[in-house]
Order: sequence, then structure tokens, then C-alpha cells
Amino acid sequence: MLAVLCGVLFFGWFLWGKLEGEKPAVSGNIPSYLNTSQEIALHVSDVKTGIRSVRIAIEQNGKETVLKDDHYPLAGEPGGAVVHAADITIKPDIKKLGIDDGKAVFHVEVRDNSWREWFHGNKTVIDREIKIDTKPPAITVLSRVHNLTQGGAGLVIYKLSKPCPVNGVMVGDQFYPGQSGYFSDPNVYLAFIALNYRQGHGTEMYIKASDDAGNSVRAGFFYHIKARVFKSDTINVSDSFLNMKMPEFQVDVPPNSPNPLLDKFLKVNRDVREANYRRIVSATAASDDKMYWSGQFARLPDAAPRAGFADHRTYMYKGKEVDQEDHLGVDLASVQHAPIPAANSGRVVFTEMLGIYGNSVLIDHGFGLFSMYSHMNSFNVKPGQMVSKNDIVGYTDTTGMAAGDHLHYSMLIHQTFVNPIEWWDPKWIKDNITDKIDEVKAAIAAPAATK
Ligand SMILES: [Zn+2]
Repeated sequence: MLAVLCGVLFFGWFLWGKLEGEKPAVSGNIPSYLNTSQEIALHVSDVKTGIRSVRIAIEQNGKETVLKDDHYPLAGEPGGAVVHAADITIKPDIKKLGIDDGKAVFHVEVRDNSWREWFHGNKTVIDREIKIDTKPPAITVLSRVHNLTQGGAGLVIYKLSKPCPVNGVMVGDQFYPGQSGYFSDPNVYLAFIALNYRQGHGTEMYIKASDDAGNSVRAGFFYHIKARVFKSDTINVSDSFLNMKMPEFQVDVPPNSPNPLLDKFLKVNRDVREANYRRIVSATAASDDKMYWSGQFARLPDAAPRAGFADHRTYMYKGKEVDQEDHLGVDLASVQHAPIPAANSGRVVFTEMLGIYGNSVLIDHGFGLFSMYSHMNSFNVKPGQMVSKNDIVGYTDTTGMAAGDHLHYSMLIHQTFVNPIEWWDPKWIKDNITDKIDEVKAAIAAPAATK
């Protein structure tokens, strides 16, 4: 009697277990786009009765292409124990499988070993609408001549055959994003580029683009690099300079330092300089897709040039070399607290006390071109404010690492400091920027037959 009761109870327990209603779990990323051979990784699991089968397929125009159809061993079956979790990686060769570009449904069906659904098991089904795109984008270079000087700027104009979330120009290891919005055709992009002061002959440049599906392409263009040698300069760091300047900076030096002020100077000149640059990089990452500027850039009026762009500076203290840095702007000295005009029209990006640069203003002129004003006394503008060429943005002073009253003026193409001299020269602007844009405008407007 007891044995029968035990048997019934056991069977009940067994049945209860076999009839569990918990569905298998599926995780991972099914992309919304599929290119030629994309890897898809899924994790499937079933805690209670384990995984029975996994079926993955692509359905398109009523046709099903099976990518995977796996059956897992049941408990007690030859070939192993119940599988409770599995990692599945597939890399379907879309072209070989005969799947066309266009819309499709990505189908995943996982079943467990439950006796539900008439012994077929609980099932989890995922049907995700995806887009198959195996065609790489095409790049047509529209601008023709690209002459760049070491430390100088340039412009590349190109057209893409379809929208590409990532596109731009590589100059050595530096990426300059392309931006549309200047031409009415949204697939025509402008990329302002730069050779940094260290990039001379042999720097590789190309346009790259990758579409939503991750298909990517590169295109070369004609360019000519003019190498340039920059000046060298020696800066004597005096005790009176350190006494005057260092209290402004809050950096720690070792308590047992024999010359805390010099140590502080070196830390500021290296670490603070680097941190300040990181701030500039983040502030210049995005730029408005409007060409705010026109004509040559204004220079601080009646100012004598002090230090030049990319001067290589050797810092001496009591006759000994203590540091080396490069000066990536132009120093202009006028009268004390001279009014500083905005070099050209644009939108103020920041007005900040920025370490070695002191009080600084950064203006976005659009499409990645920026001007920066440093060692200022006070600000006349606020972040976000639109300014016109020659509007007074503030006054010169000695804030930051400056010994005498002057303006440290710099220009940038996104993250790269460029030589302002080019932007003060109307002929350079015409030859390298505006004529190029006009040429592309004319080519786009012209009927195809005359091109
Ligand atoms: Zn300077």
C-alpha cells in the first residue's frame, strides 16, 4: 500500500517536473542590419528541463533559410546529459546562402525538454525585422587639389552613395569627421582636415565611410604635402617668474622637494598642459554644420608677434635644461588689456579658466574650425552666444602661464592645432577653401552632360 502511494507521489512529482511551464531564455544582440558576414552571438538557457532544440533562420519573401537547427540530447540518451545553457555563434555568409539585400525577418526558436505542448516543450520565439545590406558605400571625391603644409589645414569634399553614420578623412592616425549640411544634397560631405605640426612627407590620407550595416570602404585622393621646419626657442625660467606665477596653480609636489616651485612648474607645464589639451579635444569634438565664417580671419590689431606657431621651446632654469614643449599658437602683444576681436563669426563654445591657457574663449566657426583666445583678463561673451567678426570677446592679460600681457591665439581643426597664418591670408583661404567649394557648387549645378 505504502509502496503504491509512494509510487503515485513519485509519479506526480516526476510529472510535475516534466510539465514545467518555464520558457527558455535567449539573450544576445540580434543586429538590425546584416552585412556580408556578420557574427551574431546568442546565449540560450533553460534552468528546469534543459534545452531541447535551437533553430535560427532568416525569412525573406516567404522563403526560409535555415542557419542553425540543433537538437540537444535528452537525459539518459546516449551522447550526454541535459544541456541547461549554450553559447551559439553564427556567421551567415549572406551571399552564399542566396539571401537578397532588403528586408527580412531573423527568426530564433528555442525549445526545452518539458512535456508541455504535446511533448514538444516550452518554446521561446524571437522574430526580429532586419535589413540585409551587403553593398559597400561608394565614395566620389568632388574636390580636386589638396595641398597641405605641415601644421596647416585643408578641405576635402566628397559624395557618398548612401548615408553612412561614420565617414571622414584619416590623416595619419588622426580622424576628421565629414559633415553634410552645406550642400542641399545630404550625401555631399565637407571634411576640414589638418596635418599636425609633426606630420610631414609620407603622411597617409584617405576618406573612409561605413554604413549602418557595417560595410566599409576607403578612397584615396590626390594630395601634396609641403614639409615645414619650425623655429626653436629657449625660455629662461626665472625665480621671479616662478614666484609670481606658480601660486595660481593648485598642484601638489612631493613634500621633500628641494625646489618645490620648479617642480610645480614642471608639473604644470607637462600634466596640466596635457589635461588642458584633453578639455580642448572634448570641446572641439562636435561642430555646427554651418559655415559661420567668411573672409580672412582678424588678427589682434596693432600687435607685435612674439612667439610663433609650433616653436619648439627648451626651458632653462639656472643654466640647465629642465623641459621641452611645443607652442601651438601665436603670441600677439599689444597694449595692456587690449580688446580682443572675434577672429570671425561663430558660436562661443566655452569661456573658462583653463590651466596654462588662463582665461580662454573658444569659438566654433562651423564644420570643425575653431579659434581660441588665451591669457585673457575677462570675458565679454557667454557659452552658446553667437558672435560676429570683430565683436570684442574680452581683454588681454597674463592669466595662466604668461609672463607679460599678451594674447595667445590658436586655431584648430577639431583636435588639431593649426597655423593661424593660413587663416589670416585671403589668398590662402581662396585657393584652399572657398574656390574649392565654388568649384564643387558649379559641378553639382551643371547638367550631367557638360561635366
Ligand atoms: Zn603663447
